[in-house]
Amino acid sequence: MADEVAHSARVWNYLLGGHDNFPVDREAAEYALALMPELVQSARANREFLGRAVRFLVGEAGIRQFLDIGTGLPTANNTHEVAQAAAPDCRIVYVDNDPLVLTHARALLTSTPEGATGYLEADLLDTGRILEAAARTLDFGQPVAVILSGIINFVVDDAEADAVVQRLLDAVPPGSYLLLSHPTTEVNGPAVEQSMRQWNESGAAPITARTRDEIGAWFAGLELVPPGVVTCSAWRPDPSRHEITDKVSEFAGVGRKV
Ligand code: SAH
Repeated sequence: MADEVAHSARVWNYLLGGHDNFPVDREAAEYALALMPELVQSARANREFLGRAVRFLVGEAGIRQFLDIGTGLPTANNTHEVAQAAAPDCRIVYVDNDPLVLTHARALLTSTPEGATGYLEADLLDTGRILEAAARTLDFGQPVAVILSGIINFVVDDAEADAVVQRLLDAVPPGSYLLLSHPTTEVNGPAVEQSMRQWNESGAAPITARTRDEIGAWFAGLELVPPGVVTCSAWRPDPSRHEITDKVSEFAGVGRKV
């Protein structure tokens, strides 16, 4: 049954203030919050980073195509809304392995007439199927931004995580970008470790945190956009809109394939 075990998409939705979640998700979120009250701040800072980075990609980098894997439940400032507000002809493919996400996504994440949105229920590890299906909406002859926001942490095996990122980057042409965020134990480590241990013992899909070096290694060979891999609230902050805090246990970065 969908509502017997907590699901990351629904827990994330709860942390972001949404209502698309079940009691088991709220319980898991509240347990983690008891250990780590700043988790709400981390989730929101991660989401704000995503918005700023997508705006950067459309505005300064001229990107018009996005492959957003691990979409999450629709919330405010979804990738296609941010991208198409800046350039209505942007094309976006959303991928998630939670059927609830895709049901909501199809209903809510609708494109501008000039652009396109595609949806795919698939596992991140199944990159072959993702790339094949995404090619119906995206032109892989042109630059694509691959978005992996808060999802590689569900690939617990390091070699497998490296291979997934590499396969996705191999499939996109030079001038493409990688946008990635990932929880870390370098900020608030003991609480992050304890809340992840509890999550992993609950029967939910296991999760892991990584160090800045491990996260930074996925950008090796890419041109890292300044300021590099940083706490996500510190990535090109908009000083008029939010406070920069180093309490956020999520690192983020954007890199360009050369
Ligand atoms: N990218 C969004 C949501 C992050 S929550 C954001 O940054 O706000 C993580 C999402 O990844 C959830 O929607 C979850 O369903 C999805 N997910 C987790 N493991 C996955 C996997 N192996 N394959 C595809 N999607 C996965």
